[in-house]
Amino acid sequence: MEHSQPCKSKPASAKKLRIAIDGPAGAGKSTVARKVAGILGYTYLDTGAMYRALAVLALDRNMPLDDPQTLGEMASSVHIDMCEDNGLFRVWVDGQEVTHRLRTLETDRAVKLISMAQPVRRILVDIQREIANRGGVVMEGRDITSVVMPDAEVKVFLTADVAERARRRWDELRKKGVTISFDEVLSEMEARDAKDLERDWGKLVKVDGAVMIDSSQMNVDEVCRAIIGLCEAKPTCSTS
Ligand code: C5P
Repeated sequence: MEHSQPCKSKPASAKKLRIAIDGPAGAGKSTVARKVAGILGYTYLDTGAMYRALAVLALDRNMPLDDPQTLGEMASSVHIDMCEDNGLFRVWVDGQEVTHRLRTLETDRAVKLISMAQPVRRILVDIQREIANRGGVVMEGRDITSVVMPDAEVKVFLTADVAERARRRWDELRKKGVTISFDEVLSEMEARDAKDLERDWGKLVKVDGAVMIDSSQMNVDEVCRAIIGLCEAKPTCSTS
C-alpha cells in the first residue's frame, strides 16, 4: 500500500494531543471519535474502515481469505485514500470509492478474517503510525492504545454491554432495510468479540493507563465530554 492520508489532516504540532480509543464493535467508538475530533479540530481516523476497505477488495478479487501472505501482498500493492466528509468517513481503494460497501454483512464477515492476517496488520499499522506522528489525531480501533500509539497522551478503552452493542447494530441494519433477527446480530457480535480477543497480534486489550468508559448507559455527548475532560486535564492540550 502506498501513501494513505486523510484529506483533512492538520499540520503537525507538538502541542496537539494524540487520542487513542480502543474497544469492541458497537461500543460507539466511531461516533464519539469523530465528534471529539470535530470539537478539537483534530484529524479523525477510523482504522476499522481501513481493514474493511481491504475486505471489500479481497471479496471483489475473490482472494482466499485464509491466506495471510496473499492478503498481505494485496495490501502492499494498493493505494488507500481516506477522508472525513460531513460525518461520513469515506474510503477509496486505488481511486475507487468503497465507502458504501464497508458496512455490509458480507464485509463484516470477511473483515474478521482479513484482520487476523499479520502481514495486513503490519502494513496498516505502519500507515496509522505515520498519521499518528503528526499529532492532533483521534484514532480508534482495537490495537491503537497497545500497538499503534502506546505513547498517546490520552488513551481510552470504550466499551458497552454486548446486548446493548448488538441492539445498536441491529437498529443500524434495520434502518438500512436489512432483514435480520436480533439473535443473529447478537451471535455475530459475540463471534466478532471472540475474534478480537483471540488474535495473536493486535488483539483487543485494555492497556495500563487507558481510561475505561462504559457507554451502556451513556449518550454520545456524555462520552465525548468525558474524553474532552481527559484532554483538558493534560497540560499540553491544544485545540487551535
Ligand atoms: O471497528 P470496526 O468494526 O469497523 O472494525 C472492523 C474489523 O476490523 C473488526 O473485525 C476489527 O476486529 C478489525 N480491526 C482491527 N484492528 C483495528 C481496527 C479494526 O483488527 N485497529
